Amino acid sequence: MKTHHLAGVTVAMKNLYGLIPKEDKRLYHRIDRLEEAIVDLNMARPSDLIIVDGTFSTHHIPPFEKQRLDLALGGSDPVAVDTVAAKVMGVDPRTIRFLSWAEEKGIGTKDLGRISISGLSIGEAYRKDTVTILDLCRRKYPRVKIIDGQSCTGCFGRIGTALYGAFKEDVFKEDLYILMGPKAIPPKTGAYIILCGNCLAPTFYNGLKGTFIPGCPPDLKEFRRALESLAPSETKIP
Ligand code: SF4
Repeated sequence: MKTHHLAGVTVAMKNLYGLIPKEDKRLYHRIDRLEEAIVDLNMARPSDLIIVDGTFSTHHIPPFEKQRLDLALGGSDPVAVDTVAAKVMGVDPRTIRFLSWAEEKGIGTKDLGRISISGLSIGEAYRKDTVTILDLCRRKYPRVKIIDGQSCTGCFGRIGTALYGAFKEDVFKEDLYILMGPKAIPPKTGAYIILCGNCLAPTFYNGLKGTFIPGCPPDLKEFRRALESLAPSETKIP
């Protein structure tokens, strides 16, 4: 039961990603089609029964910080199991693109009103200290303020992963605001701002000063270029 830097969570649906050969896994990562592959795999061979080991949760990439949950989850609908697991780990399932796509394809439901839960309630199982990619970014770069206004995995997964891996260590000497998601509210400050993704096109074109990274999901090369222009010259992105 883990949070995942690109997909949001890795629990029931992404588990099937482990069934395909390594070279295919690398390919879908390289062409940025991880979430599409997850949905296709679950359509090709839907799970009959899902049992989730929730003794601990962790984040999918180092430092693999663990949180003790002492849970077991079970179900026959992978979309529902992932939805409940995401809620327990503090990730909003509405922001996870592969869950929305899976629901559209009829694989299962992420409608909490239609998911029947036995045993602990989500509120009883919830752990607020579960770590996500944005938490790792905030810790690594204290001067980078990420304003996440209900962005989906297309933004928070990709931008978060690109930001986290961009530099070996913290290089930011001044405050930088990174906005993503349709509800992101710009700060009232003269600090440098990067607006990520088409959801923020109206904010940018309404006159907000900053760098706009277009695309849905946003263009990562443009994002890296924007970061690089702010970093000292000796800390170029590899
Ligand atoms: S721009 Fe696209 S990828 Fe980013 S939050 Fe909006 S819908 Fe998601």
